[in-house]
Amino acid sequence: MAAERGGWWERPQHRRGWREEPEEEEEEQRREHPAESSLLNKLIRMSLVESSQKVEILQQDPSSPLCSIKSFEQLPLKEELLQGIYMAGFNRPSKIQEQALPIMLAYPPQNLIAQSQSGTGKTAAFVLAMLSRVSAAEKYPQFSPSKCLCLAPTYELALQTGNVVETIGKFCADIKVAYAVQGNRVPQGVALEEQIVIGTPGTMLDWCFKRGLVDVKKIKVFVLDEADIMINMQGLSCQSIRIQKALPKDCQMLLFSATFKEAVRAFAMRIVSNAIVIKLREDELTLSNIRQYFFICESQEEKYRALCNIYGCVTIGQAVVFCQTRRSASWLAAEMSQDGHQVAMLTAELTVPQRANIIQRFREGKEKVLIVTNVCARGIDVQQVTIVVNFSLPTSRRRNEPDFETYLHRIGRTGRFGKKGIAFSMVESCNVGLVHKIEEYFQTKIKELDPDDMDELERLEN
Ligand code: ADP
Repeated sequence: MAAERGGWWERPQHRRGWREEPEEEEEEQRREHPAESSLLNKLIRMSLVESSQKVEILQQDPSSPLCSIKSFEQLPLKEELLQGIYMAGFNRPSKIQEQALPIMLAYPPQNLIAQSQSGTGKTAAFVLAMLSRVSAAEKYPQFSPSKCLCLAPTYELALQTGNVVETIGKFCADIKVAYAVQGNRVPQGVALEEQIVIGTPGTMLDWCFKRGLVDVKKIKVFVLDEADIMINMQGLSCQSIRIQKALPKDCQMLLFSATFKEAVRAFAMRIVSNAIVIKLREDELTLSNIRQYFFICESQEEKYRALCNIYGCVTIGQAVVFCQTRRSASWLAAEMSQDGHQVAMLTAELTVPQRANIIQRFREGKEKVLIVTNVCARGIDVQQVTIVVNFSLPTSRRRNEPDFETYLHRIGRTGRFGKKGIAFSMVESCNVGLVHKIEEYFQTKIKELDPDDMDELERLEN
């Protein structure tokens, strides 16, 4: 429970309080919480993230050869589930689903650890597996009830998974979902009827062991989602392990993660024994499609003038401008609005649904410029973004080093989907060294431009 009580969704103002930097600094340093970015991605994602990579099998059960499927019809799925899949608009399995679904639906059940980036279809995959494993008849105790239990790191992520169950399970009228999340009051000691229980580890622990709502011995499928976020949120991994340890030996364990660093791998191996391990490598972000330039500007006003000159010379679809602090972002938004630009601003004090709404509007082209602070540097895949502007270069905490990863992720917002993008960075003369370090690190060229040389700016179009 402790981890839930301290959950990020409840007390954002408290989270702010623990840091001692002045407010302005804080925005610059604060990175989006992984659970927040995951939720944001889920709220704004409308389609699959495609990858050109193949799924790798890292560990396999030699006694049961793997197969992959190319269509949902090849799977042993009930008709109602196929209907649910079609209703959800899925025509064919995603790459990770091609491999994961036959493993998850196999008899005897097999354990699986799967890693692929956010948006590649993991949730839909394990939801299908859960729905397929529970049968409506099992609602009644005389048929030896079996349940699926699914753990998510936060309340909101648990609800998102529940939404997917409800969408894909639309035609499975008798299958019901319960949410073991804080604040969801259910009568003490009455075993739950719902066959799928989704929740956060603290409340689930409570429901299983203190309140007697879930009989862990009846769990047939255990899903641990977002394992990489779990291990970074205090207490959640221990709580998950406590639940997992109490499950019956023949319970099928499924673990999903968007990343697979050593700590995640070790945690996954601890929770899921004898597992098949599959992994979809992420397509690398590259700078090859992106022309990069920098301007030397000594003040905010000079930076703004340079930005206006770019606007005067280059045809811009949509632009994302990254600022270092909330104050500079607000200043810039006000200046641009005054000059008649349609501007939206994305900063840390907004809730995740508010951020999702802003990104959605931007996607629809309602605003042409999106001003963002470090929060949200990732995840905004907006196809029509033609330019990215670093109003300040991202730096490491020590400030004398560029933050290379953030630079790549910011710039990588443009030049995607095979299109050409342009990135501009504004730097003070004392920071030109940062530009050279970036060039060296990525083995790339960042060309200096004179912000007042309109002819040169106009030539950028070609
Ligand atoms: P992940 O859990 O890896 O983040 P999701 O399962 O949430 O990915 O899927 C990402 C998006 O792709 C969702 O909008 C989902 O509805 C959609 N999606 C999932 N599987 C398919 C599929 N086979 N075909 C088309 N869209 C899919």
